[in-house]
Amino acid sequence: MIQTTLTPFKRKLNSSLTKKQINVLQINLGKRCNLACNHCHVEASPKRTEELSPKNCEQLIEVINRFRKLKL
Ligand code: SF4
Repeated sequence: MIQTTLTPFKRKLNSSLTKKQINVLQINLGKRCNLACNHCHVEASPKRTEELSPKNCEQLIEVINRFRKLKL
């Protein structure tokens, strides 16, 4: 049987959707990887060469240092 109506998300949750404090920062440093998984969300592979520039790395370090809530 095909369901023809959608349950509103708020009712599905049965509570309000609230955010929690951010304390994790994930950084994809580049697209080079020794594997090439079909499911890879960054489309990494051994053939990819893109990577963060030294300037971008310095900027990231500045952001990380300013954002004290991150757990290092
Ligand atoms: S998912 Fe992507 S980054 Fe992770 S191992 Fe596979 S190819 Fe590499």
